[in-house]
Amino acid sequence: MTFPEAAAVGTLAFYSDFDDFQTWKKALQTQLPALQVIHASQTERPEEIDYAMVWKPPQGIFERMTNLRLIINLGAGVDSLVGRDDLPRNIPITRITDPQMSRMMAGYVLFAVLRHARDIPVFEQAQRSGRWAYRHPRSPEEMTVAVLGLGHLGAKAAHEIQRQGFRTLGWSRSLAQIDGVECSAGMETLDSVIGQADIVVLMLPLTPQTMHLFDRARLEKLRPGAAFVNVARGALVDQAALTELLQSGHIGAATLDVFEREPLPAGDALWSMPNVLITPHLASVAIPSSSAKQIAANILRVAAGELPDNIVEPSRGY
Ligand code: NDP
Repeated sequence: MTFPEAAAVGTLAFYSDFDDFQTWKKALQTQLPALQVIHASQTERPEEIDYAMVWKPPQGIFERMTNLRLIINLGAGVDSLVGRDDLPRNIPITRITDPQMSRMMAGYVLFAVLRHARDIPVFEQAQRSGRWAYRHPRSPEEMTVAVLGLGHLGAKAAHEIQRQGFRTLGWSRSLAQIDGVECSAGMETLDSVIGQADIVVLMLPLTPQTMHLFDRARLEKLRPGAAFVNVARGALVDQAALTELLQSGHIGAATLDVFEREPLPAGDALWSMPNVLITPHLASVAIPSSSAKQIAANILRVAAGELPDNIVEPSRGY
């Protein structure tokens, strides 16, 4: 990579209702002191913006950014960006695939898997009623965990799960290879994968192909009593069907970080179900100090006339 003169790096506009502008500005300027970082809502000359770093920006945000050279999605999931009709054409879009973000996600998934595998929800409930509820622990080797989606986040999570001794199945669109993980690919293998698993973990992007992939019929193919973990996107799952199958016990328990509607509405049946753990969409987040290095490297590439890394393909949706 040929590095441009510092002054030629340009101006970046930031937009996120979830992330702190000043923290990101500082992290980016630590990497690129010459980069101008402004908030997209405060810019008077949008035509001077070279890079837009955004998370769920308002409609029309790119309209007057006539010299835009790069869109950086401030997160790993791009579903809220790629389907939009106001996206400028032929501008590369990148996303964050920071190793620290993968580690944070793998930590959450491992916690959820171990919690189900070690029957912790049973003990949590027993404790509330003062009961000593001994259950002999199952060994991890006796249990199968399926990780659906083996990208930057899923591959790391699958690796951590197999390290604990679980039989680990991985599933993706193209066949992956991960040491210790039995991988398969394609729709024709999905039902067999989920039918073998005691714990199913969703780590797929939301695309037209994966929307409601877990409809009622597919959820019914889970093993009776299996645990279900969704850290990907709520719309991958028919939430009403999931709720009913959790109520009937066909699905034994769930850890849900994402929902069809967020925040999950007050009064939703899921809130009060003893076999469901709800967290408010935070399994992993972009960490400014580490992600800024990757963003800065991409800005330098684009400023030097090269293509950035981690390009999103809007046509495939991820
Ligand atoms: P990647 O794009 O790196 O990986 C996606 C994986 O899903 C790949 O293995 C891909 O297959 C597979 N896949 C995509 N479409 C299909 C399909 N139709 N059938 C089978 N497999 C498919 O994504 P990441 O790992 O970075 O992130 C995954 C998702 O996690 C994000 O899209 C986001 O929605 C979610 N997320 C949630 C967070 C949270 O806090 N809850 C935080 C960050 C992300 P292939 O390898 O063949 O391309």
